[in-house]
Amino acid sequence: MINIYYEEIEDYYLLNNEDEILNLVFKNINLKKYNKILVKPNVLGPYPPDRCATTHPKFLEWIIKYLLNKGVDRNKIIVGDSSGYSTKKSFEVSKIEEVCRKYNINCKPFEKDEIVKVKILDTEEIILPKTVLESDLIINLPKLKTHILMKYTGAIKNLYGCIPGGLKPKLHGQYPKEYNFAELLVELYNIIGKNREMITIMDGIYGMEGNGPSNGNPINSKIVIASKDALAVDIFASYYIKYNPMDIITNKILINNGNYKKRDIWQENYKIIKLEKNVKKEVSFKEIDRIKFKKPDTYYLTSIMPPSIVKLIFSVMVQKPKINRKKCKKCKVCQYICPVEAISIDNLKIDLKKCINCYCCHEMCEFGAIDLKRRFFI
Ligand code: SF4
Ligand code: SF4
Repeated sequence: MINIYYEEIEDYYLLNNEDEILNLVFKNINLKKYNKILVKPNVLGPYPPDRCATTHPKFLEWIIKYLLNKGVDRNKIIVGDSSGYSTKKSFEVSKIEEVCRKYNINCKPFEKDEIVKVKILDTEEIILPKTVLESDLIINLPKLKTHILMKYTGAIKNLYGCIPGGLKPKLHGQYPKEYNFAELLVELYNIIGKNREMITIMDGIYGMEGNGPSNGNPINSKIVIASKDALAVDIFASYYIKYNPMDIITNKILINNGNYKKRDIWQENYKIIKLEKNVKKEVSFKEIDRIKFKKPDTYYLTSIMPPSIVKLIFSVMVQKPKINRKKCKKCKVCQYICPVEAISIDNLKIDLKKCINCYCCHEMCEFGAIDLKRRFFI
């Protein structure tokens, strides 16, 4: 059985190191034995904490304090991530850097790291930071959010931030559709998860609903979810926000034909432990008090209709990006990250014939200046 721990916590100031959830998820783990512990928050872009697009700095601080209280040498801890654009600025604006400075912890943008070439999906080769591959424990701190391309983003998707900067949008170009991008994420998870332990602790105290992962709406989802199994966190979290966990393609691939033990029914093999004032109680999926997240505008196209109708609708109707002239600050980030060079900021135009609907521009525009408009042709 795989244990999933969760606790309803209303706000970040209520986190404290007496919280039993951390003792439970780190149980039987001697934290002092590791040579390199990578703490991997979600630092998607230069978003302040109240935007709820990034792991909250207080959440990271909670984990760092726990590790230090357990006697972990601060020199063995690295907080690392790579945003789609300018990780250094993202670390600053999200206040993740401030926490690292306070506790004298190394805060590493992965673009500045040495890189290692790694084979992926049989034929492709990608680069990964040495820090990731040298770590013997990863503490994965995803944020609970919706995602316009993948529907949901959590534990597995957070590892995509291990890929250094500019390569991320490029890979979006090579794996543009939801299913093949999910295959890439699963493969990456298998590579990163190999030869090292991983603990996932999800920041769902405030999440993001609607058109996440950066331009949705903050929602006080009041939950912390933890497990030694990243997939278990994604199954639980997607269920918690009232998705069908099998609508999330990474969940589906890992349960049915990934490198995991085959699990035909997603509810099986999980033991769910609810913490309430540090008291444990085992509950079933049905007993979980769920919260409904507004789905991204793209969601229904791939989830509700039978496949043939989806195909038909996709051929005539799709969400396309459009630059909002009033909001655009002409920073050109979208132009830089677009994998197919479809954006011209000089003309404030997007070439929709080139556009592959990866939504990277929507994700990376910190000013919310990329609107999504439904169109009846591609
Ligand atoms: S749409 Fe957004 S990312 Fe693109 S140039 Fe305008 S402000 Fe910058
Ligand atoms: S215009 Fe936006 S959605 Fe279209 S390919 Fe470029 S980044 Fe992706």
